[in-house]
Amino acid sequence: MQYPGNLFVVAAPSGAGKSSLVKALMELDQRVSPSISHTTRAPRGQEVHGREYYFVSRETFDQMVAQDAFLEWAHVHGNRYGTSKHAIEQRMAQGADVVLEIDFQGAIQVKRIFPNAVLIFILPPSWEELRSRLERRAEDSADVIEVRLKNAAQEMAHAKEFDFVIINELFERALFDLKAIVHAQRLRFTAQRIARSDTFQALNIS
Ligand code: 5GP
Repeated sequence: MQYPGNLFVVAAPSGAGKSSLVKALMELDQRVSPSISHTTRAPRGQEVHGREYYFVSRETFDQMVAQDAFLEWAHVHGNRYGTSKHAIEQRMAQGADVVLEIDFQGAIQVKRIFPNAVLIFILPPSWEELRSRLERRAEDSADVIEVRLKNAAQEMAHAKEFDFVIINELFERALFDLKAIVHAQRLRFTAQRIARSDTFQALNIS
């Protein structure tokens, strides 16, 4: 499947700062739009159905799996999460750049379907910092934090399967890195040929 828009897939262990970085990127760059995943987990804090996630029952999720509605889906931290095909294909066909914030298993599935997807892994600068970010976030119980830290080691072992790695030590620096990846992707020959078709034609470049 070839679309004019780019597909960016961002993964990270929880607490690495992935959501804040992606949110900041989208605020700065209106051409990047999110994909809202479906999940069977309950909403946390201020989360709203249809904004952070579509919060659905296990039955609804399983029905969607049976209907082949997901581009990818995975079990993460005891819940199910999936990216609906419809939402992202529609936006990419319109030329939008779509960013998926998903776990590493989903990222690898997406790369198999869209080999041009750009996989970006966000790492924390250290274990100490990861733990303290999870504790400061104060959204999860101590038990959940321990599970997330244990899962983090397993998740980070997959960073090598990604195209790019950003170490989120200083937020502004990490955001600069993320913007640089997005920008470089838009400068690829195939992207430029679509975006600057007049120039290419005038210069006789096919
Ligand atoms: P949280 O519950 O903290 O919002 O997310 C837990 C993990 O699930 C995060 O790593 C998040 O990126 C991942 N996740 C969220 N949506 C999806 C999805 O649609 N597919 C997959 N594979 N992972 C997802």
